[in-house]
Amino acid sequence: MSEATPNQAQAPLTSYKGNRTPTTGNTFESPDDDELEHVIAPDWMYPYDVNDIEGIHELRRRIRDAEEALNGLKAWTELIKDHITFGNSGKVGKTVGIYNLNTAHDCVNRGTDYCQVGPDECYAVRAEHRQVHPIHYRRRQEIIWDHIDASTFATAFKRIVRRKRNRVDALRIPQSGDFRHQHDLLKAEEIARILQPQYKVYTYTASTWLDLSEADALTVNASNEHAAGADRRFIVVEDTEDIPQNGIQCPKDLTDDIWCGQCQLCLDSDAGDIYTKKI
Ligand code: SF4
Repeated sequence: MSEATPNQAQAPLTSYKGNRTPTTGNTFESPDDDELEHVIAPDWMYPYDVNDIEGIHELRRRIRDAEEALNGLKAWTELIKDHITFGNSGKVGKTVGIYNLNTAHDCVNRGTDYCQVGPDECYAVRAEHRQVHPIHYRRRQEIIWDHIDASTFATAFKRIVRRKRNRVDALRIPQSGDFRHQHDLLKAEEIARILQPQYKVYTYTASTWLDLSEADALTVNASNEHAAGADRRFIVVEDTEDIPQNGIQCPKDLTDDIWCGQCQLCLDSDAGDIYTKKI
């Protein structure tokens, strides 16, 4: 495997932080709607055309209003509620919240030696090829993620979960895409620290060129062989014969009657390496 690391995105240089000064609480003139594209998620901050994202103008307005509200938590909670899912049609049960940091198309590891599969083999890339909606949704998630702080995200998550009828006890960050830089990993770690022990926060990452040892509360499944600092490796194999004798096979490979969340192997830090058959 090449030692070269993917082209890392930079942690956002700036994000809009409302119009109050922290010391005096005085307000400055708020940006008008037609100024927002220069202030919130300007095009130069992302590797795609931000203005092409469905709903971007409304999203910028909502971020501005959340930042400027005297109590922005309610507005942030509504934004996260509109951009978080619980379970998916694949492996994950409804007891697990899922929040993405970006699209699989924009994944920093896509097409690099760090990813276990080819650039168009990833299940999330294939889903984005089939429908364009997830790309817009996940890019909005990325922009929200870049503007919200860990504490507000964690509190919003707890509020959303409290309103749900079914039990929720875990959060997966992310499902598509991957950590773009160390700042993403540290934010997920801070969220995990705030949410523990009530909620388990876990991830699968091929961004093993980051310093994964900085994640402690966050359970890290490394999806390649570079597992330094991770809790375990989560390895895709062509054939079950490739699973070593002491390797654990993902129970979901063997029965459809189990979901991530019911099965806690990837959520806990103490299980061994896990193997799953390529689909
Ligand atoms: S081992 Fe368990 S938690 Fe991990 S992917 Fe398989 S079913 Fe989900």
